[in-house]
Amino acid sequence: MGKATGFMETVRVENPYRPEAVRLGDFDDLHVAQPAEARRAQASRCMNCGVPFCQSDFGCPLHNLIPEWNDLLYRGREREALARLLMTAPFPEFTGRVCPALCEKACNLENDALTNRDNELYLIETGFAKGWVQPRIPRTRTGRRVAVVGSGPAGLAAADLLNKLGHAATVIERADRPGGLLMYGIPNMKLPKDVVERRVRLMEAEGVRFILNTEADPALMDDYDAVLLCGGAKKPRALNVETAPGAHVYFAVDYLTAATRAVLSGEAPSVTARDKAVVVVGGGDTGNDCVGTALRQGCRSVVQLEMMPAPPTERAANNPWPEWPRTLRTDYGQLEAIFRQGADPRVYQTTVKKVLDGAVETVKLQGFDPVPGTEQTLPCDLMLIAAGFVGCETQTAEAFGVALSPRGAMMPADGAHRLRDNLFSAGDMRTGQSLVVRALADGRAAALQIHQFLSSKV
Ligand SMILES: Cc1cc2nc3c(=O)[nH]c(=O)nc-3n(C[C@H](O)[C@H](O)[C@H](O)COP(=O)(O)OP(=O)(O)OC[C@H]3O[C@@H](n4cnc5c(N)ncnc54)[C@H](O)[C@@H]3O)c2cc1C
Ligand code: SF4
Repeated sequence: MGKATGFMETVRVENPYRPEAVRLGDFDDLHVAQPAEARRAQASRCMNCGVPFCQSDFGCPLHNLIPEWNDLLYRGREREALARLLMTAPFPEFTGRVCPALCEKACNLENDALTNRDNELYLIETGFAKGWVQPRIPRTRTGRRVAVVGSGPAGLAAADLLNKLGHAATVIERADRPGGLLMYGIPNMKLPKDVVERRVRLMEAEGVRFILNTEADPALMDDYDAVLLCGGAKKPRALNVETAPGAHVYFAVDYLTAATRAVLSGEAPSVTARDKAVVVVGGGDTGNDCVGTALRQGCRSVVQLEMMPAPPTERAANNPWPEWPRTLRTDYGQLEAIFRQGADPRVYQTTVKKVLDGAVETVKLQGFDPVPGTEQTLPCDLMLIAAGFVGCETQTAEAFGVALSPRGAMMPADGAHRLRDNLFSAGDMRTGQSLVVRALADGRAAALQIHQFLSSKV
């Protein structure tokens, strides 16, 4: 159970960010890893409380065995801790970097919670560094073939588990690199792309096949024993406001994709914030990634517009522990904007009324209604729309003849993964835009349903 008095002796310390002045000069990893002693001290704080909410439905969607691997880490049994972690977590190097750590918000220590995400990252990176993470090739093969469409976290997790269950998994990806939003979406400083490539290489060594630059064809259903659609939910919510012909307006994921391509190729991005006044529409996590990216590209200024009021700084009475706290968070990009510009870039209860050439007209909101007379004009050479997503792109649904739910998702009426015959869905495509850890859990759940389906046909 860690150390009985650990949580009283040691305070919570997260992996620190590199200083703003340094990290704004590159697209490298935001965080600085801590040495083994620090990690063991942090792991010692786990109380193994009678009801570990961290691994319950309130906490980790993968139901990671958190108290168990924290205890092993505290005792210096790192290789066993990693083995325990890998029982449920397919790719801790992703979740250890980008997971919002639902487990920590559900921890009995509340605001003083364990640093599970950092501990998990330490274990997997130690495993890679010490050569403990080696290809795990299945001893027997079933002879069954499964096509997985989409190589985001859902598709990768499903292919990984199907392969380990002995099926031949082939991942078919439209993009030129595998990873879905892990590759083209989440910026390099949050998730370095060599980390994604390292995992894909390992999966290939384990027997998973990747076919890139290829659009999924419904004929896959005849060629394979089962097909799993994990195409994500990247259809962006548009602004639908009057826009001047010369205005530079981009959807956030398109902009972030161009930025990552530039980081990987070393060439100039096809769209850049350099020397521009940037307005990001949307105060959420994707908007924050746009702020951090624009600052690194050398923007002149950045503002982030948000329709909703600022959340409270403390939990409201109707949002008790162990629920996810709907409180104000100031993420890395916003911290960097504060450092560079001297103020939080977020402007609340404000939306765009009109996009002009070189400027934007905004208006204050009361609820969802514009307040007359509150119009303002802000300089804007580049507008980035990060206003959320409205479901999956329709082309895959049309090609495979799947009716979408009212929320634009491939969610069958019974809530299962099987759509019809040998066709299944998982990840954001099934649930709507979510989180990496939820996509991983959903991909694994779909893989188990496919395994049952294939086994029942023997
Ligand atoms: C900018 C941004 C930042 C984010 N940051 C975080 C974060 O920090 N932490 C977090 O937990 N979550 C984050 N998320 C959410 C997270 O990335 C997604 O929930 C997750 O990636 C969904 O995984 P997925 O596998 O379902 O789909 P995706 O990752 O979207 O992958 C779908 C893949 O399918 C491919 N595809 C689609 N249709 C076809 C087809 N017909 N044929 C072939 N290939 C196809 C696409 O090219 C894509 O590669 C972020 C999202 C965005 C947009
Ligand atoms: S995957 Fe996320 S929720 Fe699960 S243990 Fe890791 S940090 Fe916590």
